Amino acid sequence: MVEKKLPARKTAKAVNVVAAPTPTVIKAAMQRFTKLSKSMPTKRGASSRGQDFNEIYGEFNPAEAQAQAARCAQCGVPFCQVHCPLHNNIPDWLMLAASGRLEEAYQVSQATNSFPEICGRICPQDRLCEGNCVIETGFESVSIGAIEKYITDMAFEQGWVTSPEPRQRRDSRVAIVGSGPAGLAAAESLCSLGHQVTVFERADRVGGLLIYGIPNFKLDKSLVTRRTELLAAGGVEFKTNMAVGKEISLAELRSDYDAVLLATGVYRARTVELVGRSLEGIVPALDYLIANNRAGLGDRLEKSLDAKGKRVIVIGGGDTAMDCVRTAVRQEAKEVTCLYRRDRENMPGSQREVQNAEEEGVHFEWLSAPEGFMAVGSGSRVGAVAAHRIHLGVVDGSGRQVPTPIADSRFIQEADLVIEALGFDAEDFATEFGTRDLAVTRSGTIQTREGKATSLPGVFAAGDNVRGASLVVWAIRDGRDAATEIHSYLQSHSRSLAAE
Ligand code: FAD
Ligand code: SF4
Ligand code: SF4
Repeated sequence: MVEKKLPARKTAKAVNVVAAPTPTVIKAAMQRFTKLSKSMPTKRGASSRGQDFNEIYGEFNPAEAQAQAARCAQCGVPFCQVHCPLHNNIPDWLMLAASGRLEEAYQVSQATNSFPEICGRICPQDRLCEGNCVIETGFESVSIGAIEKYITDMAFEQGWVTSPEPRQRRDSRVAIVGSGPAGLAAAESLCSLGHQVTVFERADRVGGLLIYGIPNFKLDKSLVTRRTELLAAGGVEFKTNMAVGKEISLAELRSDYDAVLLATGVYRARTVELVGRSLEGIVPALDYLIANNRAGLGDRLEKSLDAKGKRVIVIGGGDTAMDCVRTAVRQEAKEVTCLYRRDRENMPGSQREVQNAEEEGVHFEWLSAPEGFMAVGSGSRVGAVAAHRIHLGVVDGSGRQVPTPIADSRFIQEADLVIEALGFDAEDFATEFGTRDLAVTRSGTIQTREGKATSLPGVFAAGDNVRGASLVVWAIRDGRDAATEIHSYLQSHSRSLAAE
């Protein structure tokens, strides 16, 4: 800060005026990356965190957050921002946080992100903003995600986060189908623009995969309900236990509302059709995670989906697989193994999550693929997985090495619970919504043209159901973009009605 003393005038007292810092002054206060190494909020020790479902990362204290934010080089072309799906204005909020101007930092951060406290916790930053921070090479990146989380947690603590407050209320009514991050982000934007928003959700709770997929140790559920309560206070109406296509038809929504947004995600679990797959004790990842998240929210946990005392094998190498192995550890499984057909370097899951799993005692069988499931004696319960070793062969058209089985490498791994975490495909949306006029792509996702508009007039789509299984930050981006398009559509629609 530069303080200038104004020359005293005869009639007035001398006053101290704080001049706005110049870009040179700001730069000098920043760029601390050569002097200060990257740090992250304290991570709880593996043995303690393995005993509960609480979040594993703590919070920066104000001095740490300020110092870490000041590591930013304030790049002219910030690659962190380019590679953030929301194009968050990262250098600006880092500069404001480094100067202790947290309320302004929050205002800048929330201008582009509907739920920064959620992204700060669960974005795979190593693949997005932080992985593209220019000081990553040579020095470690700025701790962007942790600072984003700190700014928004502080904003909630200080009462700066409010429910959407439209300047003008409009008559237009929008139905949103699905209350995951895409639906919630769209609801927030549309409500702020003054539209009347109703969210239809087939589950009994609002939040989509934020509430029922992602485990509490990555994202505390109270953060999701805090957001949905703010939306409800701002006028968003939530109708739970309302599956569109069952309890109410898409046709009814189209006639009752001025626009409809489909934000329904993708839920068809991929499977491996192997010998013995119908044995009891082989379950899809999402069934397992939903049951555990429900138990955390007070529902009863089905015994068949409880890993306590069991030998657990999780098949797959993505983030869902990592969530399953880490959940099994917390459920006090006897042993937990992850079976993945590629090696560590080639797994799709975030390296940070693999490291967390390893620290928590998960055993990884890299380069291994299942070939069948074996029963306990002549019974109907699974007792083991037969698998073989894999060699990564030549690179195929997708740019990845093809996994090839190694001859005579069969091995048996005992298991009482096998969890399949092999990804998700789109369900048959045309059947679900009772209309063949809803165009879908070859992979089954909803086809959009001109942005988020579907083939049905007045019906838009956003999130995983368009993109395929993706990330929360992309769902937020899609939901916000859809809201902007729906707003323009409703405005031009009301103009043309008025002109008739
Ligand atoms: P969803 O979150 O799936 O929400 C769709 C909603 O629509 C659901 O509530 C569903 O019940 C509802 N619905 C569906 N059909 C109907 C209908 N007919 N009528 C009414 N309601 C309906 N991403 C990250 O960025 N970081 C992570 O750490 C991460 N971890 C993940 C862990 C797991 C286990 C999974 C499965 C995914 C994870 N993801 C993560 C991905 C992320 O959760 C999704 O990309 C994101 O939630 C997609 O948002 P969405 O709003 O499109 O769909
Ligand atoms: Fe990084 Fe995600 Fe935040 Fe963007 S939203 S700055 S990618 S943590
Ligand atoms: Fe700061 Fe890194 Fe972004 Fe550059 S790339 S502006 S150093 S956070």
